[in-house]
Amino acid sequence: MATDEHVDVLVIGGGPGGTPAAMALARAGKHVLLVEAGRGLGGTCLFEGCIPSKIFRETAARRHEILRARDFGLRLETPDPPEIDWTAVQSRRERILSGRAQGALAHTRALPSLDVVFGRARLTGPRSALVETPERRRAVTFDRAILATGSVPASLPIPGADLPGVIDSTQLIEIDAVPRSMTLIGAGPIGVEMAQIFAMLGTRVTVLEVADRILGPVDAVLAERLEGHLVRDGIEVHTSATVDSITGEPGHLVTTFSVGGNRKSAETEVVAIVAGRRPNTVGLGLETTAIRGGRHGLVVDATLQTAEPGIYATGDLVGDPMFAHWATAQALAVARHLLGAPAEFPRPEHNSAVIFSYPEIGMVGLTEEAARASGMEVGVAEYDYAADARAQIGGDPDGLLRIVYARDSRRVVGVHVLVEGAADLMGEAALAVRLGTTVDELAEAIHPHPTLTEAFGVAALAARG
Ligand SMILES: Cc1cc2nc3c(=O)[nH]c(=O)nc-3n(C[C@H](O)[C@H](O)[C@H](O)COP(=O)(O)OP(=O)(O)OC[C@H]3O[C@@H](n4cnc5c(N)ncnc54)[C@H](O)[C@@H]3O)c2cc1C
Repeated sequence: MATDEHVDVLVIGGGPGGTPAAMALARAGKHVLLVEAGRGLGGTCLFEGCIPSKIFRETAARRHEILRARDFGLRLETPDPPEIDWTAVQSRRERILSGRAQGALAHTRALPSLDVVFGRARLTGPRSALVETPERRRAVTFDRAILATGSVPASLPIPGADLPGVIDSTQLIEIDAVPRSMTLIGAGPIGVEMAQIFAMLGTRVTVLEVADRILGPVDAVLAERLEGHLVRDGIEVHTSATVDSITGEPGHLVTTFSVGGNRKSAETEVVAIVAGRRPNTVGLGLETTAIRGGRHGLVVDATLQTAEPGIYATGDLVGDPMFAHWATAQALAVARHLLGAPAEFPRPEHNSAVIFSYPEIGMVGLTEEAARASGMEVGVAEYDYAADARAQIGGDPDGLLRIVYARDSRRVVGVHVLVEGAADLMGEAALAVRLGTTVDELAEAIHPHPTLTEAFGVAALAARG
C-alpha cells in the first residue's frame, strides 16, 4: 500500500499516557498523529476507571452520609434509606464522561500540528504503521512513535470464569442495576474500592483475595486497619483464599473457594473478577519490530525507549505502577526528551497514589517495609487521628498517619495516611518526598487548624522527640 503521509511523531492511544505527550509535542511545533481506538480521548481512566468509579463512590458516600445524618443533629422525615435511582447515576456518569471527552478533544483541536484520528493503529515495521478508521486505511511513516495502549482486565484460569454473569471491572462500571449480592475476586485497589462502594449502596459483598492481606503494596499497618473497616461495614473478607470454581447462571452464581484447606462457597447475583490488569499489546504489530515484552509490560530503558530505537512506551503498557498520574508524568517526560529538553523521568520512590476506600488511603514514596528491604535504617513517626479535631468534627476519627524517614539524613522517604479526606492531603507529602524534606523541616512548617494536615506537623514533632 502506498504511504499516505509522514509524521514527526505517531502516538498510539489517547489515554493519560498518550494525549499529554501528543499535545506537548504539537505545542512545540512537531507534526503529531494521535490515534485512539475508543469513543473519545481519555482512555481507561475516563471511560472505565478513575472517573466513573469515583462518580459511583460519590453517590455511595452521600447515601452513607444521609443514613448517619442523626449523628450530626439532623432528623430526616423518614428513617428509610434513600432509594437509589441507578439509571440517574449512570446518566450522570455519561454526562460527566462525555463533557470531559469533548473538552479534551477541543483542547487538541486547538493545536494545528496535532491530528487526532479515531481508529486503530498497528505497527507494520520499525518506522511505519497502518491506521484504520471506519472510513479509510492510512499507511503512515514516522520518525518517532509513542505507544500508550494501556491495559485490559486480567482474566483468571478459574473454571467458570467465562460463564455469563461473571464480569470484569469494565462491565461492573456499566452494570444496569445495583445487585443485591456480589462476589469480588481480588482485593487490590479496584476490588477494595468497588467492595465498599457497592456495600454502601446496599449490596451484600464478599471479597476473596489469594494473598494473606488486602491491598498488597500498601503500608501493612494501614491495610490491616482498612480491612477492619471493611469487616465492620458488613463485607465478608476472605484472605489466603483460592478460588476453585464458579458455577450457576446469571443472577445465581456460586463461587467455591478454599481457605487453609477448608472449602467454602459464596452464592451471589454477580461475580466480578477484579484481579489486576495486563498490558494491552494485542494487535499492535509488535512482531514487526524489535520490541520485547511480556505479561508485566514492554521492556523499556531509563528513557522509556523500547528495544526498537525511536519507539517509546508509556503508562500501563509498561506495567506497574498502573496509575493515570504516573502515565501522564511518563508521557510528559518522553515528550521533553524527544524535544531535546532536560527531562526527569518519574521515579517509583517519588510516586503518589490514593485508594478511594472509605476511609481513603493516601500514599507517597516508600512504605516502611520497602525502605527496610532496601537496607535503609528508618524511623516511623505516627499520628492517630482519634484525637484529631478535624477528624472528630467530620465524624470519621478512625485514621492513622505514618511518616517514614531515613534515620541518618532524617529525610522523609514515605508518607502513608488512612483517613477520610486523605486524597486531598497528599500534595504536601508528594512535595516533601520529592524535595527530600527532613522531618525537622516538616515539624517547623506551620499547619492550619483545624485541618487534617496538622497531623503532619504533630507527627514530625514527635519524631524530633
Ligand atoms: C476501575 C478502575 C479504577 C481506576 N482508578 C484509578 C484512580 O483512581 N487513579 C488513578 O490514577 N488510576 C486509576 N486507574 C488506573 C488508570 O485508569 C490507568 O492507570 C490509566 O488509564 C493508564 O493510562 P494509559 O494511557 O497508560 O492507558 P489507557 O488509559 O488504558 O489508554 C489507552 C488507550 O489506548 C487505546 N488503544 C488501545 N489499543 C489501541 C490501538 N491499537 N490503536 C489506537 N488506540 C488504541 C485505548 O482505546 C485507550 O483509550 C483505575 C483503573 C480502573 C480499571
